[in-house]
Amino acid sequence: MDLNLNPNDLAFRDDVRAFLDENLTDDIREGARLTPSVRSPLAPSRAWGKTLAKKGWLCHAWPQEYGGPGWSPVQRYIFESECALAGTPVLNHMGRKMVGPVVMKYGSQAQKDEYLPGILNDDLLWCQGYSEPGAGSDLASLQTSAVSDGDDYIINGSKIWTTGAHQADHIFCLVRTSSDGKSQEGISFVLFRMDTPGITVKPILTFAGDHDFNQVFFDDVRVPKANRVGEENKGWTVAKYLLEFERGGVAYSPQVKASAQKLAEIARQAPVGGGAKLVDDPDFRRKMSSLEIQVTALEMSERRVMGALSQGQNPGPASSIFKLRGSEVYQAVLEAAVKAIAYYANPYQPEAYVPGNNVETIAPDEAVTASSLYFNQRAATIYAGSSEVQRTIIAKHVLGL
Ligand SMILES: Cc1cc2nc3c(=O)[nH]c(=O)nc-3n(C[C@H](O)[C@H](O)[C@H](O)COP(=O)(O)OP(=O)(O)OC[C@H]3O[C@@H](n4cnc5c(N)ncnc54)[C@H](O)[C@@H]3O)c2cc1C
Repeated sequence: MDLNLNPNDLAFRDDVRAFLDENLTDDIREGARLTPSVRSPLAPSRAWGKTLAKKGWLCHAWPQEYGGPGWSPVQRYIFESECALAGTPVLNHMGRKMVGPVVMKYGSQAQKDEYLPGILNDDLLWCQGYSEPGAGSDLASLQTSAVSDGDDYIINGSKIWTTGAHQADHIFCLVRTSSDGKSQEGISFVLFRMDTPGITVKPILTFAGDHDFNQVFFDDVRVPKANRVGEENKGWTVAKYLLEFERGGVAYSPQVKASAQKLAEIARQAPVGGGAKLVDDPDFRRKMSSLEIQVTALEMSERRVMGALSQGQNPGPASSIFKLRGSEVYQAVLEAAVKAIAYYANPYQPEAYVPGNNVETIAPDEAVTASSLYFNQRAATIYAGSSEVQRTIIAKHVLGL
């Protein structure tokens, strides 16, 4: 198949570039550049999310009937690539990429009316209540209970590793509504506000020192049954559908490619003595070439599958392939960046991540967040299903083994 862009795609790419030139302000770009973690801080993310929403491009993968721009998969891919190369913030995608598609497919009309416009306009921030202290990879063993009480459920239990729970105004949550039969059979999928009485959010700091995720406790939290998405005890089907989107569909390579370009820049700047730069070192050049091949292979595979995806189709189990390769190649690029910066990667200067700071950084400008990104992105092969779990899915559902 033809992996080159046709004239329409090239014209679209130019439109996107013009939009980015005009709207990606220095403040937003700076906030994105100083991102130490998996997602960008709230201020630049929301500013950029609102800019995209105003243009109608925030939920660019949504069908037109729900307010999407009607782009082809190739256009979506071009957009993601141009954004990554231009250095836009990494947005919280739990609304637009995860719960949004779920509400479209399984939600009632009332739920569509209530939630989709807010996601489209970037007015709602979501968090994901799947994992529990005793239920991670083996998600179906979750124990948070939802007991029927008239028109409501009374929810008790705890969720853990809940990214952004301290900022979110809503949660989508898996709860146990029955203990009969197989563990997958008694699960329901509910949505509720994070300011509902009975919810406590306690921070968990990452190894890199950032506050990204939390443990969330539910003590007699009353949630209307009308907030359940799909049938009672059939939430496992809904949960799996959402995971296909969480694992990313086919758009890992833009961010990985942008990081590889940053690595090349670091290598061009890093002195190795005698006036030479790291990029002149044959061993490091070999390393960079190997990474470049892996990034290109990822990109070509994504573009091949993307070309075959019809609009509105869900990504399917093949998303596990991209989740696996995308996260592993990304980690390899970030590791190479830390090695390239060598001693200067070690100092811990979180105050230098604050946009507008006047901190004199020890690391060179282009490398100031390299170590934090490296440490935080160790999580990429764990969250949204670990690499081992992805390999099992690929073996069973893609390769049919
Ligand atoms: C940064 C980050 C953000 C996260 N955000 C969220 C969030 O917002 N919401 C949420 O609900 N969860 C979130 N998670 C949780 C994440 O989904 C879980 O960590 C993940 O599913 C793994 O579960 P676990 O940590 O309990 O590890 P376990 O399931 O205990 O796994 C431990 C190890 O055993 C391996 N393993 C487990 N089962 C198998 C198997 N069957 N075959 C082979 N190997 C296996 C795993 O690969 C892993 O290496 C987040 C995690 C991280 C790191």
